[in-house]
Amino acid sequence: MGMVFATYFFTPPYYSFSHEVLKLSLWSNLVFLGDGIIVSLSIEAMHRFRNRYRRELRLITSSEEQLRVLNGELSALVEKQRQTEADLKILAVAFDAQDAVMITDSQANIVRVNRTFQQITGYAEAEVRGLNPKILSSGRHDSAFFTDMWRQIKCTGAWAGEIWDKRKDGQIYPKQMTITAVKAPDGAVVNYVAIFTDISARKKYEDEIRDMAFADALTGLPNRRLLLNRLSVAVSASARSGQFGALMFLDLDKFKMLNDTLGHDYGDLLLIEVAARIKSCVREVDTVARLGGDEFVVLVENLSDGMEVAQQGASKVAEKIREVLANPYQLKSQPYHSSPSIGLCMFSGTDSSVDDLLKRADQAMYRAKTTGRNRVCLFDSACTDYRNELAGCPPL
Ligand code: GH3
Ligand code: MG
Repeated sequence: MGMVFATYFFTPPYYSFSHEVLKLSLWSNLVFLGDGIIVSLSIEAMHRFRNRYRRELRLITSSEEQLRVLNGELSALVEKQRQTEADLKILAVAFDAQDAVMITDSQANIVRVNRTFQQITGYAEAEVRGLNPKILSSGRHDSAFFTDMWRQIKCTGAWAGEIWDKRKDGQIYPKQMTITAVKAPDGAVVNYVAIFTDISARKKYEDEIRDMAFADALTGLPNRRLLLNRLSVAVSASARSGQFGALMFLDLDKFKMLNDTLGHDYGDLLLIEVAARIKSCVREVDTVARLGGDEFVVLVENLSDGMEVAQQGASKVAEKIREVLANPYQLKSQPYHSSPSIGLCMFSGTDSSVDDLLKRADQAMYRAKTTGRNRVCLFDSACTDYRNELAGCPPL
């Protein structure tokens, strides 16, 4: 800043010399006050502008002392203005951040949104200004969800959580959002500020990880872990409904031979085809799982509340699966024949544990193997005795 000589007040209109005023600001204090501009002019500036803009310039002080005081005040004002400009710059950067920002008034009508909001939602600011954020709703949350949200904002001044919303093109997506109430000194809400990020990619990744944890990679069927979960739920449901369910344990006959003769790739192709064929024999709600190797399990629920009818129904399904799996295969250009051995056990209520049920179905399957393969065996106590005898164990 140059040495101050005199302070002038420029009164409007000053448009005609606005570019010169700008030049002035390079070497003088320049402060906007009301609709005028106060300029502390250096000698050089005064000489340059006094004659030219005599009418617009009004000398407001000239004594040395007054000048020093005014110059100090002007410096403070200029500093304050610089600080305000710096703050505004920071706010502008924050507003244009990676997160979407939506600001509403106290009645929850949208007043401002940032660029990321427009990118995520597909709405331009002009399209949403003045509207209630309800236009973003996906319909996936009930009214209790929003009642809770607003109760929390009223009590604590903020809410944070995940929410499903709808883009302008109709696509529903998940977002992580915080809503903060901005209050005046008297405590009245002035604005609500919602900041959110689109978490579709994260959700998709989480789903994939979860699927990997619960699915068999080769066939895409549920794995042992998911089967055990579903079996446990089915057993509890059967206790409530009184309906019988059935568990089938399948193991392919002489599967190793296929691996040994045509190779592991052909073995894989057969396993994939077997999975599809088993699924085609049961309802969508039933579970077909692969435990590993050439072992599959089928869980069928809600057969009947009568043991006999339920058992007949389950045997029919098991026999159908056996028949379908015994039909010829075409593995690449190679025709192939296979068959399964199937063990079947019924369950009702929580009398038996999940592990016990699996063990029983496995024992029945073992009996099917040892009595000729390509057959269905229903579990009874003889299955246990039979397997133990074969294993050289005394009967249980
Ligand atoms: P059995 O009639 O007594 O069941 O005879 P098997 O030859 O089918 O014998 P077993 O059921 O014990 O053989 C299962 C074989 O499955 C053993 C293993 O080499 C093979 N296997 C395990 N996992 C896979 C896999 O992911 N792909 C392929 N191709 N083979 C597998
Ligand atoms: Mg086998």
